[in-house]
Amino acid sequence: MAKINQNYLQLQGSYLFSEIAKRRTKFISENPNAQIISLGIGDVTRALPQSVLTGLHNAVDELASEKSFRGYGPEQGYDFLINAIIEHDYKTRGVTLNSNEVFVSDGSKCDVGNIQEIFSGDSIIAVQDPVYPVYVDSNVMAGRSGNYNKETNRYDNIVYLTCNQENNFKPELPTQKVDLIYLCYPNNPTGMTLTKAELKKWVDYAKENKCILLFDSAYEAFIQEDDVPRSIYEIEGAKEVAIEFRSYSKTAGFTGVRCAYTVVPRELKAYDEDGNEMLVNDLWNRRQTTKFNGCSYVTQKGAAAIYTPEGREQIAALVDYYMSNAKVIREGLSSLGLSVFGGVNAPYIWLKTPNNLSSWEFFDKLLSEAHIVGTPGVGFGQAGQGYFRLTAFGSRENTEAAVERIKKLSL
Ligand code: PLP
Repeated sequence: MAKINQNYLQLQGSYLFSEIAKRRTKFISENPNAQIISLGIGDVTRALPQSVLTGLHNAVDELASEKSFRGYGPEQGYDFLINAIIEHDYKTRGVTLNSNEVFVSDGSKCDVGNIQEIFSGDSIIAVQDPVYPVYVDSNVMAGRSGNYNKETNRYDNIVYLTCNQENNFKPELPTQKVDLIYLCYPNNPTGMTLTKAELKKWVDYAKENKCILLFDSAYEAFIQEDDVPRSIYEIEGAKEVAIEFRSYSKTAGFTGVRCAYTVVPRELKAYDEDGNEMLVNDLWNRRQTTKFNGCSYVTQKGAAAIYTPEGREQIAALVDYYMSNAKVIREGLSSLGLSVFGGVNAPYIWLKTPNNLSSWEFFDKLLSEAHIVGTPGVGFGQAGQGYFRLTAFGSRENTEAAVERIKKLSL
């Protein structure tokens, strides 16, 4: 008899986006002429930069001839991309990496979801609340979560690090023992960041307590301020305690093309049952070579084109475009007296709902009165209740129109 992985029964339905779609569909069926603007989902809308398109096209042409045809590539990624990553994303920040410390993949979602499987089943995980749901659900599937408590909307065995207005969305260090800590900066959904000094506290804590930081840096390219670290490895000692995840999805319009990378330093150790040190890099390499056959050559050529002088310029323009949208939203909503967070170093704007409306009440108000779809903060965790996320990934026209509509609401 084929039995299922019982842990899957602990997963909560992906309520958030299906509920948003349900309410949106109902509204449209009742108001067929409404012009809906979506500032809800985190997908990009601008076309791929020209340098990336050229990189992709040239790579496709190479595959047309047996002389330059490529079949299976290295599971870890091609050297041309890994070297460009090391040179441009790290060396420029004073961080040295070896090529065997960078693992190219087809997306950060897979990497942040898969990384947990190289750690012990009884590891205690800590997540920020609100949180990108993949960190939680991948650990639920692996049996680390314990039961779901419907009253608290939290899993019994997961340690939640609350991020709210009171602590300026900067979590306190855990007060109980944890083994793996997921940190996401710039943060999805709050759009907030940590300074170098604040991040150093986490690195020091991880060193002292022999835990590992899983640092999701998917939005690194959107950082504008100097004091915000672009890589956790800018913090002294971080290579001994941190894995870093980066993605081309939002930076370069790769949400559909799919390419990302993960850095696992050779200095990073974890322990076996007898307390012997093991290299995490070796385990991740073993995992990837067993279960992953590499990101396509064409895609990696497209990604490498980002690091050419033209590519860098085009990416910067893309980021500028979205960050100008963020400014439009942030300043527009602030001018109404709303409490607005994020949007300075990240493409997400996180706002406190007015008049203590719940996240879903505010969702309904925005949809019915302004025909705008956003994302209720409570969908990212209990600490997101009473907050709301808007994204800067729309067109300028829609973004400006949305803000004008919100200005007309009685809040
Ligand atoms: N990490 C965070 C925090 C994200 O918000 C996302 C995408 O929304 C990802 C990872 C996944 O990125 P990718 O498209 O590379 O799978």
